[in-house]
Amino acid sequence: MDKCDVIVVGAGLAGLVAAHELTSRGRSVTLVEQESEANLGGQAWWSFGGLFLVDSPEQRRLRVRDSFELAWSDWRGSAQFDRLDDQDSWAVRWARAYVEFAATEKRSFLAGHGIGLTPAVGWAERGDLRASGHGNSVPRFHVAWGTGTGVVAPFVASARRAADEGLLTFRHRHRVDEILLAAGAVAGVRGTVLVPDTGPRGVASSRAAVGEFSLEAQAVVVTTGGIGGDHDLVRRHWPPSLGTPPAHMVTGVPAFVDGRGIDIAAAAGARVVNRDRMWHYTEGLHNWDPVWPGHGIRILPGPSSVWLDALGRRLPAPCFPGYDTISTLRYLRTTPDIERYDHSWLVLTERILAKEFALSGSEQNPDITSGSRRQVLRTRLSGGVPGPVQAFRHHGQDFAEAATVGELTERMNALTKEPLLDPALVRAQLEARDAQVANRYSKDAQVQGIRNSRACLGDRLSRTARPHRLLDPAAGPLIGVKVHVLTRKTLGGIQTDLASRALAADGQPVPGLYAAGEAAGFGGGGVHGYNALEGTFLGGCLFSGRAAGQAAAADVG
Ligand SMILES: Cc1cc2nc3c(=O)[nH]c(=O)nc-3n(C[C@H](O)[C@H](O)[C@H](O)COP(=O)(O)OP(=O)(O)OC[C@H]3O[C@@H](n4cnc5c(N)ncnc54)[C@H](O)[C@@H]3O)c2cc1C
Repeated sequence: MDKCDVIVVGAGLAGLVAAHELTSRGRSVTLVEQESEANLGGQAWWSFGGLFLVDSPEQRRLRVRDSFELAWSDWRGSAQFDRLDDQDSWAVRWARAYVEFAATEKRSFLAGHGIGLTPAVGWAERGDLRASGHGNSVPRFHVAWGTGTGVVAPFVASARRAADEGLLTFRHRHRVDEILLAAGAVAGVRGTVLVPDTGPRGVASSRAAVGEFSLEAQAVVVTTGGIGGDHDLVRRHWPPSLGTPPAHMVTGVPAFVDGRGIDIAAAAGARVVNRDRMWHYTEGLHNWDPVWPGHGIRILPGPSSVWLDALGRRLPAPCFPGYDTISTLRYLRTTPDIERYDHSWLVLTERILAKEFALSGSEQNPDITSGSRRQVLRTRLSGGVPGPVQAFRHHGQDFAEAATVGELTERMNALTKEPLLDPALVRAQLEARDAQVANRYSKDAQVQGIRNSRACLGDRLSRTARPHRLLDPAAGPLIGVKVHVLTRKTLGGIQTDLASRALAADGQPVPGLYAAGEAAGFGGGGVHGYNALEGTFLGGCLFSGRAAGQAAAADVG
């Protein structure tokens, strides 16, 4: 049996960071990954590269005042930890440590790895409108140059360097099926060698087996990601508080995000907690140019689109675009006369489309992904509809547009099995909303929110359209976008202590077993609690992967 100091299972961001920490301390590592080399970096490569930072120079430049105290208050209000004596006991400690990291050394950690940040700071997940409730009080969503590809690149390079130096061995197309134990401690892994696959990154690969393998080590780090690629698993763990899962969802992660690793760790004695906590979006589009099965793309919406349910009624506060993901999901899935429908609608103008619609993902933001400042300036300040958004508008199956409300609803109705939208009802609501735009003392909470958003320099410049009447023909054609639930992140997972050691049901570490990244709920089995503040997942992989690598390196020393 091949032998090394530590086996890392999963070559996504968390696994690569753990491997980096291990090899930079001279430990030998085998990086076992079920996908081909083309997929190195896992989900992070596809990600938008959004990073949660607190009190950064980028925020200060935009006159955003932030602090650890404010961020920690926001985090607790969002997480709503309610299992403190049990499933949340380590999650809450991870949460505090993570917010401290985001407010102190995270930025220099990123810079130390050559990861730069664009000057724009987005205001994601504005929350549930309560001072102590869910949401970011201020913009904190920093985007890495290179998007997700820029975040993962230094750790891919580190792994390749370590491989050249003989410290790291890649085992691609090796799927771990079991973590081996000897006398109650981790002794290695066993699994299946999958048939070689030369498909491009992200395309679902063959699961045909060509052999078996086993490897020996003193420690195993599980960094196998979440469950978002397997809708059956998502449905199995769907919390009753969110009603019934939709019959049809789009998939926001590649097929390799299959959740198997979490159960494999459980079979080795690790405790899995908070399985009912998940982070799925309600603004998913069918990708007109799909890479993986059911490929969905998330709209990162600005605050101005009007959100209608499947029957054409405006969603209540705080279910506004960019405000409160889980409240919106809960509303759509538990309101009696709409829960049977799997879609809702964003209604907007071309002016809003141009300024406010962004799409999540590295491939949907080629300008930032390229790292070219000049290209970003050219595309972002041009004032037109961004190219990738325009492509969805023209080729996507979820867009309807027209000059009048009557024509628009007719076209929107053509995108559903039955014509559910009443043009008179839609028109009445748009007119009522438009009347509140004309009123500088608006009582419409969403209109108030748009004005609040424009009080922030960054949002005014690049993310929030000047308030205007939706029915103003000068704002361009009206656009209706059919949006779907998009599966993405797993908030619960393997319970770990602050050293990323996997804990057993009795609260003691399983000797030699570590877990990090999404498989570990980004730390502690659920650092986010019930809600995320966004940009916190990549950072959670960096933070928990680093802890796992450092602790495992010390333990096998
Ligand atoms: C389109 C998109 C946009 C996103 N945008 C952002 C963002 O802006 N900000 C943010 O913070 N987060 C974002 N995220 C989320 C973030 O990218 C992920 O949560 C994070 O990258 C997960 O990393 P990971 O290392 O834990 O797992 P993964 O990246 O899922 O890696 C796990 C790896 O383990 C392998 N594996 C699984 N099981 C086995 C097994 N049994 N044997 C061997 N190998 C196995 C898988 O093949 C995979 O390569 C985004 C995600 C996507 C998809």
